[in-house]
Amino acid sequence: MIADSFPVCLCLTGKTLAANLAALDEHRQYVDLVELRADCLDPSEKFLIRSFPEKAGLPCILTVRRKSDGGCFVDGEGVRLVMIAKALSFASSDARANFAYADLESDFHMATIEDACRTFGTRIIRSVHYTEGIPQDLDAAYEALIQEDDEIPKLAVRPRSAAELSRLVAWASGLPKRDRLILGMGDYGFPSRILASRMGSLFCYTSLDNADMPLAAPGQTSPESFVETYRGRDTKVDSDLYALLGDRSILSSLSPSLHNTAFRSLKKDALLVPMPSETIEEALENLGLFNVKGAAITVPHKEAVLPYLSFQSTDVQRIGACNTLVAREGGWAGYNTDADGFERSVLEFLEREDFKGMKVTLIGAGGAAKSVALSLFRRGAECVVLNRTISTARALARKYGFIWGPLDDRAIEVVTRYSDLIVQATSLGMKGGIDGDPLEFYEFDGHEKVYDLIYKPSKTALLVRAEEAGCRTANGYTMLRYQAAGQYKLWMGELPPSGHY
Ligand code: NAP
Repeated sequence: MIADSFPVCLCLTGKTLAANLAALDEHRQYVDLVELRADCLDPSEKFLIRSFPEKAGLPCILTVRRKSDGGCFVDGEGVRLVMIAKALSFASSDARANFAYADLESDFHMATIEDACRTFGTRIIRSVHYTEGIPQDLDAAYEALIQEDDEIPKLAVRPRSAAELSRLVAWASGLPKRDRLILGMGDYGFPSRILASRMGSLFCYTSLDNADMPLAAPGQTSPESFVETYRGRDTKVDSDLYALLGDRSILSSLSPSLHNTAFRSLKKDALLVPMPSETIEEALENLGLFNVKGAAITVPHKEAVLPYLSFQSTDVQRIGACNTLVAREGGWAGYNTDADGFERSVLEFLEREDFKGMKVTLIGAGGAAKSVALSLFRRGAECVVLNRTISTARALARKYGFIWGPLDDRAIEVVTRYSDLIVQATSLGMKGGIDGDPLEFYEFDGHEKVYDLIYKPSKTALLVRAEEAGCRTANGYTMLRYQAAGQYKLWMGELPPSGHY
């Protein structure tokens, strides 16, 4: 193929050839080949396609994707045929001026076009797209694509769950070797795109996602993110694999970037990939299939994973939640690095060694608040736990001899007394979630130190209001970094040198 490292294909979905070339030039350093999605071009451009490969200066795939296959082409098959024929015709004897590949669907057959492709060195990608779900009989779907030895079968499906992705991955692992493209689209298919080399695919499809160059297919990442965030060029099929487990919101988590940047700079042959799933059972199945060495766990699986652990660290037992898995011979060992991460981050913020003599309000009683409560307890804080659901606040507070209360104006007096430090550990105000300020009933007077576990946005409404009143504030970004450093230590058996997380 084209590059020594795993090749990256940029799908170009601009309305003009000039816009596509400009986008390619901007990202060229990350790209080994391009797919010209001719179905996205303005009508006036559609018959100028022929000149594109020479201008692009990289191997090009010609694709005219119909709407029913996830593309934009809505005219009849006759028009599409003429477009493809014109794009491939008058082929030059210089192969670089021709399209290197033509993506022709499994129901598209035109002997003259296929013969021309073979004559002028254009390889046919024989594709089928299941835009919702995966076929019951994957063997039959795949075999229908293998009509000629020199063609490249491309099976693109859209798993509706992590379980459907598992089925695809398990099936692909048993296929005999040949040039092929097998991928899962959408959120649940994301790992199969990043791990395209492990799926046995020839290259990874990527695309941009902006007004001029819309995403080519669901679940694609940008070439830059594939190469930089996901180490697409500097890891191999047998590099150690780690996963981030959680619901679909993990696809915008900063954790992959944090870990993969550290793995790269510390010269670890390792990669962390988000693997979204609705249930922990589905997540664990995928870990097995991809031979994952360890995982970071977030909402909603931190508690659900407990029954599946062969070992639980003391913090996991105390907190009742696990955010880190390590593969051991007897099964999954579970750890929790959130309490340590919070502690290191907040003590740095306070410039203190512990919380002794401090009166603290903890807002929230969910998974993150449980880790915070353990840390506040073991480092000597006096604390009130406030939560929307008061029974959960009571259960958490009782564990450590704290007091508790409701998260409304009945708590004004107690917050006033427990106001050396206010820790916000609910999901209220988180980007993509519910907007709001969980302490809106309380007026800051400026002496309070306010720490919000949320780091996206970097300043929640609560932090903005606290700052306006003159309070010192911090968000949860350093906690994220420090709990990730704890995960690195568990996975690699050594502390990351300072500055790497
Ligand atoms: P969780 O287990 O789902 O708990 C959610 C908490 O938020 C509960 O206390 C819940 O109260 C409360 N809540 C949710 N919606 C609310 C609303 N509309 N009004 C008032 N309270 C509401 O989630 P989690 O794992 O604890 O995570 C909480 C936050 O911490 C998230 O934003 C997460 O991103 C952040 N976090 C940050 C880090 C970091 O490293 N910085 C680490 C872990 C978590 P109820 O009990 O009444 O439902």
